[in-house]
Amino acid sequence: MLLAKERLATTRPPSSCENKIMIISISDLKNPPTLQFPNRCVNCGKPKGEILSLSFDMGVQKKSQQVVMKISVPMCKTCADKERSIAKVTLIPFLIAGFIFGAIAFIPAFIFSPEGVTPDTATFPYTFGGFVGLVVGIIFGTIIESIVKAISIPVYGKLVTKRPLTIFSFFSNTDDLIGISAKFIKDKKQIQLQFENQEIENEFKKINNL
Ligand SMILES: [Zn+2]
Repeated sequence: MLLAKERLATTRPPSSCENKIMIISISDLKNPPTLQFPNRCVNCGKPKGEILSLSFDMGVQKKSQQVVMKISVPMCKTCADKERSIAKVTLIPFLIAGFIFGAIAFIPAFIFSPEGVTPDTATFPYTFGGFVGLVVGIIFGTIIESIVKAISIPVYGKLVTKRPLTIFSFFSNTDDLIGISAKFIKDKKQIQLQFENQEIENEFKKINNL
């Protein structure tokens, strides 16, 4: 971890990004705008290797089809590969830490749980231990995930900390790629964008007349 951190810290271009939020209004949710990106990697600015996409369910239907706004984002091969490995600093630390701390918490909860006297309550220590283990696992998994994300900023960029924690990602209205973070707010009919790279942000504004 430290080695990778040092190596990338020296190769990463200095970022002047202030992480300002850019707001894109969607006047008609049934016809979301098509956003154009500069023809190079959204994160590092190197030549485009592939296109990844962000997508948002607009929460409305058109011809009885759910309307989805798709944002095609050019990325270089290196950044796209990094994006595909993002679970290393999000889901995986959460699961590993959650499992370890959950298991550690399970044992005392199981041992000290009051044991039932009837057959119906005989399994209570398992239920109680499991519950305590789950809660402790989620809490510590989330803490460790936050720490790992903070440590991985030199590799994955500042926006990595904007990604929802695994435990919340199922309810989240955000979608992220390395170099860009996007959030859809239906009530305000807005897409909020944040760029990692200031140059790309400026070009994006120009292309889309923002
Ligand atoms: Zn790149």
